[in-house]
Amino acid sequence: MIVDSHIHLKHGDAAKTEYSPETIVAMMDAAGIDKAVVFAMSTTTRRSIEMAQEAMEKFPERLIPYVYALPHYERPVLAEIREAITGLGFRGIKIHYVECSLAEHIIDPVIRLAGNLDVPCLIDFGGRLADVERLARSFPGTRIIVAHLGQYQCREESLIDRCLSLAETYPNLYLDASGVVLIHKISEAVQRVGSARVLYGSDGPHLDPDTWGFARKELTKVASLGLDPVDETAVLGGSISTLLGL
Ligand SMILES: [Zn+2]
Repeated sequence: MIVDSHIHLKHGDAAKTEYSPETIVAMMDAAGIDKAVVFAMSTTTRRSIEMAQEAMEKFPERLIPYVYALPHYERPVLAEIREAITGLGFRGIKIHYVECSLAEHIIDPVIRLAGNLDVPCLIDFGGRLADVERLARSFPGTRIIVAHLGQYQCREESLIDRCLSLAETYPNLYLDASGVVLIHKISEAVQRVGSARVLYGSDGPHLDPDTWGFARKELTKVASLGLDPVDETAVLGGSISTLLGL
């Protein structure tokens, strides 16, 4: 089973591009992807719940919803996150540095809640590895998925190496292989950390050249690494399935 662990209903690009659940599933069908984790960003926690809930209700066998954690002065988002997970069947939490501060007083209650509810947090740290380490060390009971092996489209090998070292040290860290351009680092991640903690994701949809062409290209990246078949199966879907209890 192939599971894309990183798909946007709404992106964080300048246009804050949205893709409908129908477009996403059509892309998955064309690319041969069985299931996908979906979430919205660049919007409120409440709206992210509405968007992902609609997607899950339309395609309950295909789409797995995460809630987006973004603080709000007017509403208690922690209660909204808890309700999404305990009442609506959401399976994880998405957090994005820049839109959301990773300062202790902002983010720690969310990471703690995730541990208590036993769901993972997929976090784009934007290369802030000190924050990766602080959260991994402070919350050993919370499984943290580090997006993009540490930084989106990172071309600095040493930064990715430091991220892999952190994952070797902290068993609650998982590595998201989406948005990686130095793709040999995905193989190194599997060797150093083990395929059970490396997750294929596309970070799509993107019109590059079209949605399914992009999905296919990202899938081929992992398939072209020449991983041991057991590891490849894990990275392409087995590991995220275990992590989410699918
Ligand atoms: Zn993303």
